[in-house]
Amino acid sequence: METPRNGEQNSNSDPLAENPETRAAQGGQDSQDGLDSQDGQDGQDSLDGAGSIPEGVAPSQPTVGDVLVAVEELWPESLAEDWDAVGMVLGRPSRTVQRILFAVDPTHEVIDEALEWGADLLVTHHPLLLKPVHSVAGTSFKGEAVHRLIESGCALVTTHTNGDSAVGGVSDVLADAFGLHDTVPLVPAANGLPEEGIGRVGNLPDVMKLADFAELVFSIMPAVAGGVRVAGDPQGLVRRVAVCGGAGDSLFDAVRAQHADVYVTADLRHHPASEAREAAVNGRPYLIDVSHFGSEWLWLTPAASALENVLTDQGFDVEIRVSTRNTDPWDFVLTPG
Ligand SMILES: [Zn+2]
Repeated sequence: METPRNGEQNSNSDPLAENPETRAAQGGQDSQDGLDSQDGQDGQDSLDGAGSIPEGVAPSQPTVGDVLVAVEELWPESLAEDWDAVGMVLGRPSRTVQRILFAVDPTHEVIDEALEWGADLLVTHHPLLLKPVHSVAGTSFKGEAVHRLIESGCALVTTHTNGDSAVGGVSDVLADAFGLHDTVPLVPAANGLPEEGIGRVGNLPDVMKLADFAELVFSIMPAVAGGVRVAGDPQGLVRRVAVCGGAGDSLFDAVRAQHADVYVTADLRHHPASEAREAAVNGRPYLIDVSHFGSEWLWLTPAASALENVLTDQGFDVEIRVSTRNTDPWDFVLTPG
């Protein structure tokens, strides 16, 4: 299943279609064969370090290690939560990289897409192996994913809570999409800059009715079966907006401390949501519960562009795409009436 936004369900569903640079980079070369022969021997040498490519030197392919340096520049691992597992999951740093696919989840459908395209590197937001494992035998779906990627010469890198927390990360993208200004983190990063941390809170340019703001949110989110759920008076006015991509029901104290009129996040469970409504002051904060996948899918295109820019500035030539697969797990929903 592909992933159009609610506001553009009949348009081209390629999320990079609006980026002429990336579109140009997508054309031209056929997928690479013989990936197993690339172990740092027959690939072109990559440029060392950062900085612009010297004049007269043709762009070269980066190695996985070169890409990891760029990933660290954009989404430092030091910003990841203690419980998280980010960075390279599998792959060899010496392998050359021509094609990179970004996705939210390392599902088999996404791996199909990566391998059919001939990707050398898959960057996903969610970890494949968050919890420790004792086996990656191909008898489990995770082990099978590991085998398919390794056997096809495709490395896997996770950019999870470091991608949430960084400037330009998941919640920054949401805040920008909603037009918020003067944004600050809901929970500042322990090891980061003041503008880094989990979630964001900021102000809309103008006061809006909750119903109109919910329509704005709906129009921006990808089209998923669960749609968007709202708690609060549709005629209530909102200006100060808190956002958190992914599951954000642990952040209600910060949302209240920031006097947000409305909180947009995903995976709101019954008890935290119910208690937040009971504790509301003048009905606020109102709640908008969106798709977990959708809230993070919005980040993929700016993340892919950012990585492409860093690598291009360093003189590397890569093709980067965003997955078009909808990995939201729900397929349909029944509602009364
Ligand atoms: Zn998530």
